[in-house]
Amino acid sequence: MELKAYGLTHVGRQRQHNEDSFLVESDARLFLVADGMGGHAAGEIASRIAVDSISEFILNTKEDDGTWPHAYDEHYKRSTNKLMAAVRLANTRVLEAMRKDARLRGMGTTIVACFADADTMSVAHVGDSRVYLIRDSKLSRITSDHSWVFEQVQAGMLTEAEAEKHPLRNVITRALGGALQVNPDASEVELKHGDMFLLCSDGLTGMVSEDDILRLVMTNDGNLEKACQELIDTANEHGGMDNITAVLIQAV
Ligand code: CA
Repeated sequence: MELKAYGLTHVGRQRQHNEDSFLVESDARLFLVADGMGGHAAGEIASRIAVDSISEFILNTKEDDGTWPHAYDEHYKRSTNKLMAAVRLANTRVLEAMRKDARLRGMGTTIVACFADADTMSVAHVGDSRVYLIRDSKLSRITSDHSWVFEQVQAGMLTEAEAEKHPLRNVITRALGGALQVNPDASEVELKHGDMFLLCSDGLTGMVSEDDILRLVMTNDGNLEKACQELIDTANEHGGMDNITAVLIQAV
């Protein structure tokens, strides 16, 4: 199935730097959003390292060369395994950069990664950036935030509404650069014609409700550029408290 895609990022209205990075590589069917953190421009560096190392691994690793640095999980397709290996490698690259340069210490980044073979979208993620699927005029979250508030929601300690307003809503429990080993969550979605995927940083989801996200994507049916622009404009109209990134993919 053919995929078309578009991505856009904006610094927002409160921050000096844009620490988000994204990649749209339609030919390779690879799409990434990373939301970096850390002082002195380190967040920008972390998210850029993650995006660059994942794309380099996906683009340059041949299908059957036996040099993948990580174990193969039989529960997933080959393309999903490749994507998970790339995410684990990105974690190593972020750690290496910190080891070489003390000024970068403490940096980290989220990652959401989508990589499609002929008929399946592989999704891997670490942190609180999200992937949504829009199918049959419905929006569903493909990823579960690796955040303290989301874990409280899952444990029944907070409601979704309380989590959205909670003072600790920005505390993430998993990031690239946080530990020697990272466990990305992975899932696989069988592609159907008309499917849309949205990859985004929390600068979008913190400012724009899921109902509004669905409405903006649906009203711009197929015009990915305009939909991304309106998502970002709406986040800024609602305060633009953080960097905002949106990548839209459509199966056509
Ligand atoms: Ca952010």
